[in-house]
Amino acid sequence: MSTTDNELIEALRRIAGPSHVLCDGDLAAWEQDWRKRARGKALAVARPASTAEVAAIVKACAAAGVSIVTQGGNTGLVGGSTPDASGRQLVLSLQRMTAVRQLDPENLTVTVEAGCVLQNLQDTAEKAGLLFPLSLAAEGSCTIGGNLATNAGGTQVVRYGNARDLCLGLEVVTAQGEVWNGLSGLRKDNTGYDLRNLFIGSEGTLGVITAATLKLYPRPAAQLTAWAAVPSLEQAVALLGLAHRHLGAGLTGFEVMGQFALSLVARHFPQMRVPFLDADSTPYCVLLENSDSESEDHARARFEALLETAFENGCVSDAVVAENLTQAHQLWHIRESIPLAQAEEGLNIKHDISIPVSRIPEFVRSTDALLKQAIPGVRLVNFGHLGDGNLHYNVQAPADGDAKAFLRDQEERVNSLVYDAVQRFDGSISAEHGVGSLKLEKLEKHKSPVALDLMRSIKQALDPQNLMNPGRVLRA
Ligand code: FAD
Repeated sequence: MSTTDNELIEALRRIAGPSHVLCDGDLAAWEQDWRKRARGKALAVARPASTAEVAAIVKACAAAGVSIVTQGGNTGLVGGSTPDASGRQLVLSLQRMTAVRQLDPENLTVTVEAGCVLQNLQDTAEKAGLLFPLSLAAEGSCTIGGNLATNAGGTQVVRYGNARDLCLGLEVVTAQGEVWNGLSGLRKDNTGYDLRNLFIGSEGTLGVITAATLKLYPRPAAQLTAWAAVPSLEQAVALLGLAHRHLGAGLTGFEVMGQFALSLVARHFPQMRVPFLDADSTPYCVLLENSDSESEDHARARFEALLETAFENGCVSDAVVAENLTQAHQLWHIRESIPLAQAEEGLNIKHDISIPVSRIPEFVRSTDALLKQAIPGVRLVNFGHLGDGNLHYNVQAPADGDAKAFLRDQEERVNSLVYDAVQRFDGSISAEHGVGSLKLEKLEKHKSPVALDLMRSIKQALDPQNLMNPGRVLRA
């Protein structure tokens, strides 16, 4: 470490406290991402406890010309939350900034610090008899700051929208170390450019989100979950249309799962009982959630009417409705275990894409065929938030193949095939995970040059020294 680096570390220790600036020992938890695809070397890890400490750290780093990778729960899937290999980046972990600053039940808002774990916020809302609807499989570890920085989606988007739609205000430390207090709980505020929405989804490249004011909702009186076997993806889309018509705003979840994805759950987590695991007659299953503001009886009647029509129309060949909350959780747990089962199966190539819902069956049919022709034996893990047109269209090495060699030799080819198809179908190469470092080149290929130029201008205006998560989203 150079003298300047040592001086910076000493300055950071004075700001955050000596035990909260880590340089030695095992820093793997901060240096390696959840997928084990991105591993770097940090100059140090700083864990501030307040917005003032974050601001002071950013100022010290700016003065020393050291760039910052802000980190929440480190569950991001696109290689955006870990340092590069230079050993010259500071990891700024918000793990200690977890306070719920204010809950206003009449305004239906809550203000929390950015390091608050999503599940803790859900629990806080529940204790107040309210609902914070953002929900995703990583909710036990991911943070509100990370959710907003990536504009996370998850399983309730069909009703409540993405993280962006749930946020009313932000507090941000800028790249210059200034604090912007935009913690408004207002639902209407047309006073100029929308700074909040600029920082949301910017993946730590424009500033550090230190707190947020978020929307809360009344808790539904009843929530029912059903698991349906569908004969094809076309019928899954038809079922979605029926569900919209029958349930209206009560439709809060609509997930699709291909049989191979479910068979991985059954293989790696044999304690889970996966319904309708019969690949020949059931190529896809759908998980539906109905939230009702009246009563459980009302919810059940509406659900039964929907499923009856779906059986008559041939959209559904079999279905179960969870009898109670425990059963509902078990069904959701199966769905949420797919990424973990895939990780157990071995390294894989992930695509988090969105396509207009009406075109998804055609996209999957033609892209499956292209991949199977290009790589004999390739295994396709297909699941996702069909209600939002968002698929996790993942590619696993052939069963008898070497996963590491598959990734090394085929990743580029597979990605090009999939993303070119996404473009032909007017889709997006990143629906909810962001760009990070893993999709940077693909963004350059698939985003319009005008849009990229505008993004570069914004980055230059807000972070002229290029200190905030450089080389993520946009090339350094
Ligand atoms: P991190 O991983 O720590 O960081 C992610 C990015 O945000 C990085 O670029 C980082 O620099 C930046 N960042 C983090 N905190 C801040 C901050 N306070 N200020 C500025 N920038 C910041 N995502 C979905 O959208 N939907 C899903 O359904 C979903 N399911 C998942 C399931 C599993 C099993 C896993 C492991 C991940 C899943 N994800 C999903 C991805 C991930 O959980 C989300 O991207 C999440 O929002 C990241 O939050 P985090 O706190 O872990 O952020």
